[in-house]
Amino acid sequence: MLARKNVAQIKAYQPGKPIEDVKRELGLTEVIKMASNENPLGPSPKAVAAMRRALTSVNRYPDSQSFYLKRKLAAAIGVDTKNICLGNGSDELIDVVIKTFVEADENVVTADVTFLEYEIIAQVNDRRVKKVPLKNFTYDIEGLIARIDKKTKLVFIANPNNPTGTYLSKGDVRRLVRALPKRTILVLDEAYDTFIDVDDYPQGVTLIERNVIVLKTFSKGYGLAGLRIGYAAAREELIAAMEKVRQPFNVNLLAQAGALAALDDGRFLRRTRATILDGKAYLYKELKALGVRFVPSVTNFILIDVKRDGVRVFQELLQLGIIVRDMKQYGLKNYIRVTIGTEYENKKFISALKRVVR
Ligand code: PMP
Repeated sequence: MLARKNVAQIKAYQPGKPIEDVKRELGLTEVIKMASNENPLGPSPKAVAAMRRALTSVNRYPDSQSFYLKRKLAAAIGVDTKNICLGNGSDELIDVVIKTFVEADENVVTADVTFLEYEIIAQVNDRRVKKVPLKNFTYDIEGLIARIDKKTKLVFIANPNNPTGTYLSKGDVRRLVRALPKRTILVLDEAYDTFIDVDDYPQGVTLIERNVIVLKTFSKGYGLAGLRIGYAAAREELIAAMEKVRQPFNVNLLAQAGALAALDDGRFLRRTRATILDGKAYLYKELKALGVRFVPSVTNFILIDVKRDGVRVFQELLQLGIIVRDMKQYGLKNYIRVTIGTEYENKKFISALKRVVR
């Protein structure tokens, strides 16, 4: 084994199964993917038009500073451009944050269960991870505070959480921030903030004068997951350090053009939100009628208790042309996670689920 010891021990991240793989492997012509929390409406049309125009410039390197995009984003979220670091998806920024801030003898605190990349990327960087079990599918604030020690440099919180769809309220986040030691940074990953339908959700950007780094993405609400672009917002001192660590051309030319135009596509964002909220109401109603339990979600996905091996249920749904996510990697054996789709997709999912659970 030539890989570093810590790399050899890592359980690799398993992405959702691609549509084309399932079509090819099972000989199906129609396959619906509800596995990766993607936008079911396609990409923002304004982003697509802008990327078409930008295509003929890809002989040039992208703007390393993403000047226009940073300027627009800063204005949109009410911060300075010096408070923003862009990344090749927020995935990359998780890596940049760990590389920038965590010394060899320091640790990272996160939850069990949450987005797996926090732990995997910390392991790749040979940094220790301390995991605090969820309580009733949401973060245990007191438990987190108890596990934070002098050597804890970062605390990763997905708010809302993936794969549970639960969230921390304004009060919860305030309590956590107040309890942080002076040299500990809270990373609030707000990948799913587009879909929030509650009043007491805290926008992390309002906390960035503290030791708080907010992560956001264009992958979900704007439908640009394949483009790979996200950003971090934080104090200037923190961002300046991250800017040294990220690769100079981490955000490609098309991604900059697409994201810039997407920010003007309020119409697409509203349509996305409405689709998800309508879809969620439909899925809740049908799941209740079926007597299937689920965790109420403020996101575009739902964690469902299938009361038997989730991998089997995943495979049976796959045979019917529906890709969902089993939760084995997350240690939730009897669960699947389904991404809310279009009305058509949601109906197809429910009719397949009826065949599988009965
Ligand atoms: N954070 C969370 C909580 C996520 O669920 C995801 C997407 N699966 C990401 C970050 C990564 O998003 P991006 O596409 O911006 O890398």
